[in-house]
Amino acid sequence: MIIVVSGPGGVGKGTIVDALVQRDDALWLSRSWTTREQRPSEADDAYVFTDSESFEQRIAAGGFLEWTEFLGNYYGTPTPDPGDDRDLVLEIEVDGAQQVKRMSPDALLIFVLPPSRAEQERRLRGRGDVDHKVLARLKKAEEEEPIGRELADHVVVNDDLETTIEEMLEIVRAARAA
Ligand code: 5GP
Repeated sequence: MIIVVSGPGGVGKGTIVDALVQRDDALWLSRSWTTREQRPSEADDAYVFTDSESFEQRIAAGGFLEWTEFLGNYYGTPTPDPGDDRDLVLEIEVDGAQQVKRMSPDALLIFVLPPSRAEQERRLRGRGDVDHKVLARLKKAEEEEPIGRELADHVVVNDDLETTIEEMLEIVRAARAA
C-alpha cells in the first residue's frame, strides 16, 4: 500500500510521518530528493539535497515515482524498491499526490490541515524561513487546500499532535483491514 500524506507547509507533516514510521513497523518513509537549500534547523537526512543538474539527470533516467516543481525548487520521490513489502509513506505536496493517485488509484491519501492560518503561520515562522518565503508558502497553501480536500480519502486537522498521529495510525490500520 502507498500512503500519501499531503498538506500545506507548516502543518506538521514531517513530525507526523516520523511518528507514524516509528510506531508502525510495517511502514517505511521514502526520502525525497530536493534542490531546495537545507535549512539550518534541518537534519542532513531530511532530504537528499542535490542540484538541478543531478535532479534532471535522474528525471531523464526515469528514477522518480513522481516529481514536481514547488516554489522554484524540484522535489521528487525516488522510484521505490519493489522488494520492500512494507507500506510506503510519502510526504509530498498536492501535485505529487495527484500523480500518485493517477498511477495507483488504491493509494491512501490523507490530507492534513492546520487548526488555523494563524497557527500555520506561527509554525512556518518557527522554522526560521525569511518573511517572503513564509508568505509564499501561505499563498501556496491557499491554492493547495481545495485540491487536497477534493483528492483526499481522509482529511485530518492537526490540532493536537498526539491525537492526529493516533487518528492516522487508525486510518492506516482500517485501510489494511479493508
Ligand atoms: P519543504 O520545502 O517545506 O520541505 O517542502 C515543500 C513541499 O514539498 C511540502 O509540501 C512537502 O510535502 C513537499 N515535498 C517534499 N518532498 C516531496 C516529493 O518528493 N515530491 C513532491 N511532489 N512533494 C514533496
